[in-house]
Amino acid sequence: MLKIMVIRTLIDNYVWLVLNNNKCLIIDPNDEKLIIKFLKFYKLHLVAILVTHNHYDHTSGISILKNIYQVPVYGPKETKYFNDYTIEQNNIINILQCKFIVLSLPGHTKYHIGYYCNPWLFCGDTLFSAGCGRIFNSSIENMFNSLDKINKLPSNTIIFPSHEYTIKNLDFIISNNISLLNNIFIIKYYKNIVKRMYLNKVPSIPTSLYLERIINPFIQCTNSFYYKNKFIKLPNNISNFDYFKILRSKKDNF
Ligand SMILES: [Zn+2]
Repeated sequence: MLKIMVIRTLIDNYVWLVLNNNKCLIIDPNDEKLIIKFLKFYKLHLVAILVTHNHYDHTSGISILKNIYQVPVYGPKETKYFNDYTIEQNNIINILQCKFIVLSLPGHTKYHIGYYCNPWLFCGDTLFSAGCGRIFNSSIENMFNSLDKINKLPSNTIIFPSHEYTIKNLDFIISNNISLLNNIFIIKYYKNIVKRMYLNKVPSIPTSLYLERIINPFIQCTNSFYYKNKFIKLPNNISNFDYFKILRSKKDNF
């Protein structure tokens, strides 16, 4: 049976593992010492490394793990020096009896990808709970379209971002009173739940697309949500994409 485990690394990173009995693959490995310890402790046999994008906190563990375990690395164009297989939109990877469909998700970086294995989406730094990734060497249009692509997946999609940013994102929403569905009370209520999770050292993610459509203004701005949802309220005379841009730049300075 397939199962997911997580290793919390660095300051706020999550390294996700997909397991089939004692075999596993790992996504975006960084702190290799911690990961090796974890694999030994749970007697796990690593079979592959999947990478979402070329940022150090997602790639720094690859070389050593690849060397020790002699496993293939799958990644986008931008991590080609690590890759055995360079992959792109709609490529399919069959590992551990799991079919991963590659989604091109540029925006945070130019060639960022995600891995979708129904109902799971490993989205790297594209979507966070109650927020989205910063724009580095790509464009705001790309980020908007990538979130829109995610938003076309079924609402029961379970989303595995790579960072624990939920409280900061909820603080941003609440302190700016951003409530496109007029539901700030729900967002405040959810923040209390997440706060209790933090106190008990419980990750606030994975999240679901269903929840993000209720609390996440970046997802709410995307076309596939905005045009279907008559309850959405934006400031007058502003398009959903322009509002998305304003939100992202406000968040950059928060
Ligand atoms: Zn990143």
